[in-house]
Amino acid sequence: MVLERGEVADSWRRERWDSLRLLTPNWQSRLPGYRYEGADPDGFMTMGEVIEFISLYAMSSGAPVRTHTTVTSVRQADTGYQVTTNQGDFRCRTVVLASGACNAPSVPSLRQAVPATVQCFTPFDYRNPDHLPEGGVLIVGASATGVQLADEIHRSGRPVTLSVGEHVRLPRTYRARDVLWWMDASGVWNQRYDEVDDLARARRLPSPQLVGTPQRTTLDLNALSASGVEIVGRLAAVRDGRALFSGGLPNQFALADLKMNRLLDAFDEWARTHARDADVGRPERFEPTRAPRASRLNLDLRNGEIRSIVWATGFRPDYRWLDVPVVDDKGYLRHDGGVVDAPGLYALGLPVLRRRKSSFIYGVEDDAHELVDHLAGYLTT
Ligand SMILES: Cc1cc2nc3c(=O)[nH]c(=O)nc-3n(C[C@H](O)[C@H](O)[C@H](O)COP(=O)(O)OP(=O)(O)OC[C@H]3O[C@@H](n4cnc5c(N)ncnc54)[C@H](O)[C@@H]3O)c2cc1C
Repeated sequence: MVLERGEVADSWRRERWDSLRLLTPNWQSRLPGYRYEGADPDGFMTMGEVIEFISLYAMSSGAPVRTHTTVTSVRQADTGYQVTTNQGDFRCRTVVLASGACNAPSVPSLRQAVPATVQCFTPFDYRNPDHLPEGGVLIVGASATGVQLADEIHRSGRPVTLSVGEHVRLPRTYRARDVLWWMDASGVWNQRYDEVDDLARARRLPSPQLVGTPQRTTLDLNALSASGVEIVGRLAAVRDGRALFSGGLPNQFALADLKMNRLLDAFDEWARTHARDADVGRPERFEPTRAPRASRLNLDLRNGEIRSIVWATGFRPDYRWLDVPVVDDKGYLRHDGGVVDAPGLYALGLPVLRRRKSSFIYGVEDDAHELVDHLAGYLTT
């Protein structure tokens, strides 16, 4: 049985902002035996469309889902697991943890030092700019969430300051194809977890600076600063009511540009060696990220310039209900490709679980086949 504390597709119903669209194209919305069949394979789903897509999958697959069933504890029992929920207890031999990688916003502890006059938001409670107070907004974090919210909030007429740390820069399209087409076709997204050089690092990588829009817009830092968003360095501390930013922006930019160009080189090499040059546009290179002439190193949070902060600093899983000693001291699950370090316990949907694409909707199918084989083998022992 499949236990769900809310409705099917609950995270897409309750934990996303109004304007969000998937950053993966429709043709990549694919689940086992089920795929997008609409008229716009290169478009990007709205949240309503994602909810409909997943709900129809639950129905058509006949998955035995019990909604409004919150798991409050999973503990080892003689021949398997004792699962306690708000709807009663269950015994089972195996459990698949598919509770998501993004159950809560990950907010740094320096949030505690923010003056009470500044309202704080996370991507879980931000819905649209109308809910923000008038006045300046500091957005901390420049990955997919941060750049998307910086653009939307800046368009609402509020001055936006964007604090940028480590980030992954990608163009929306490259050589006339979606960049995620390249990730897929060239095999980058299929790279297996046991072939990745530094797996711990790959699993912590921030999401790429991408947005899904009908215009297929590239939303990088150059685009944001050209539209008037002020770019500052990584938020290092909040002291005496002042936000202090690191001065390393040119280095951050150079590193992100370097990594993007290496990836584009790899795409070009793949196209050349697989005789695909004729199917795609000409190789391109993009303008390096422009560093501001002098970025501000601190910002007074008490003088009224900044009225709200949006913490776009990532997400983390929540395993407080898991009473099996398989979670490390940072709150992350210990597992080998989704095989958890406890007999009969499995996980799906985590970053680089078995492949680089594992935490995307599109990535679960291949992982699920392999893990189900393992699970079936375990059940026959
Ligand atoms: C802002 C944002 C944008 C994203 N954009 C994309 C995108 O464009 N394309 C893409 O492919 N992926 C995207 N992702 C990643 C996306 O979350 C995953 O692809 C997908 O949701 C993973 O599905 P899942 O079922 O593993 O996890 P989730 O969708 O998180 O589902 C986990 C479910 O478990 C339930 N649950 C959790 N704890 C319990 C409990 N104790 N008891 C009962 N039920 C519980 C939750 O209610 C939830 O419904 C995005 C993620 C975020 C946060």
